[in-house]
Amino acid sequence: DVTATKGNEFEDYFLKLELLMGIYEKGFERPSPIQEESIPIALTGSDILARAKNGTGKTAAFCIPALEKIDQDKNSIQVVILVPTRELALQTSQVCKELGKHLKIQVMATTGGTSLKDDIMRLYQPVHLVVGTPGRILDLAKKGVCILNDCCMLVMDENTSNGVMLALLDAVLVEYYMTGVYGNIYVRVGEADKLLSPEFQPSIEQLIRFLPANRQILMFSATFPVTVKDFKDRYLHRPYVINLMDELTLKGITQFYAFVEERQKVHCLNTLFSKLQINQSIIFCNSVNRVELLAKKITELGYSCFYIHAKMLQDHRNRVFHDFRNGACRNLVCTDLFTRGIDIQAVNVVINFDFPKNSETYLHRVGRSGRFGHLGLAVNLITYEDRFNLYACCHWYRIEQELERRSSRYLRI
Ligand code: ADP
Ligand code: MG
Repeated sequence: DVTATKGNEFEDYFLKLELLMGIYEKGFERPSPIQEESIPIALTGSDILARAKNGTGKTAAFCIPALEKIDQDKNSIQVVILVPTRELALQTSQVCKELGKHLKIQVMATTGGTSLKDDIMRLYQPVHLVVGTPGRILDLAKKGVCILNDCCMLVMDENTSNGVMLALLDAVLVEYYMTGVYGNIYVRVGEADKLLSPEFQPSIEQLIRFLPANRQILMFSATFPVTVKDFKDRYLHRPYVINLMDELTLKGITQFYAFVEERQKVHCLNTLFSKLQINQSIIFCNSVNRVELLAKKITELGYSCFYIHAKMLQDHRNRVFHDFRNGACRNLVCTDLFTRGIDIQAVNVVINFDFPKNSETYLHRVGRSGRFGHLGLAVNLITYEDRFNLYACCHWYRIEQELERRSSRYLRI
């Protein structure tokens, strides 16, 4: 159970009193599950690979041990936190400042797109903790102004190491596929190259070389598979793996495929609506345009339908989402905007009207209906093009065999 806590208190971690005061003043009464798992382990100096859903308190899970470990009498950088964006750098440095309000710890945020000169000036003053994007921190390290000899903790938050993680996602999917633990996943999209987006990975690898040998590395994210083997094996020392995610588990979700032609899709959907017991459904399309068109078609067919996509104003989106959650409507058509961090327990059917573009998106879309042990159904409308895409991947023959074996799971419409 991902929401159950062990009943620990922040006092249990023997933190500096000033830090404890900062935590309570921030309004945190007790550690969240990911904090309960990570804080004590991080304090022992162990490397960590942790995965937990969005909004579960990962930031404090690494900021608290980071702040605890910093020796404020030393005027050196002792912690580096890598984040993928400027917004996240500012937000995370703010959390550090708030939690460390009663400590004398100097926090600096630095990201690309801002004045390098200002950052260099800033580094002439004492800094204990740097939060920023990999490229900029590497620049500063190479220039010799960001000195990392004393940096004993490196944190990677969110998708900083996206490239590394996504590359492995493919591997993980294949594993799922082989073991069958996760049911009948037929998807293996050969898009690893596109996914690999080596935006950060080389910088991170170079940056690690500036750190002392006894550094500790903590990796936190909602979106990487726990078996980040390659990166893990090379850079982490016997990491402690924490996995508080359940959303990518496809257990309890039966996945169906219907091979259709593009022009048959609406008809196919209509058939599904009439044959399936739908409590609530989410129907995914791959573009804003198609979302609007399909929503119109569904309404014409006589089914109630909302839609959400990225080109709608945030307010409007929130309202639609809220109403859908409250059961005001049975069906929701949307783009992938909708795939992350959203739980609607009443949704028992997910339909990929358009087949997702990569395996990660597939898992995020389909995982939705099976959260918290609820049974769910996923239906994929696959066109010849999608099929061809799958064929391009070397595992297709397995998929064919699998489909034959489980012909009951192959909807004929
Ligand atoms: P994540 O990085 O896992 O998505 P965040 O670290 O951004 O999540 O935290 C989400 C929200 O939860 C923030 O508003 C944060 O202040 C709050 N929060 C974190 N830890 C606690 C806690 N122990 N008690 C109460 N609120 C918390
Ligand atoms: Mg976060």
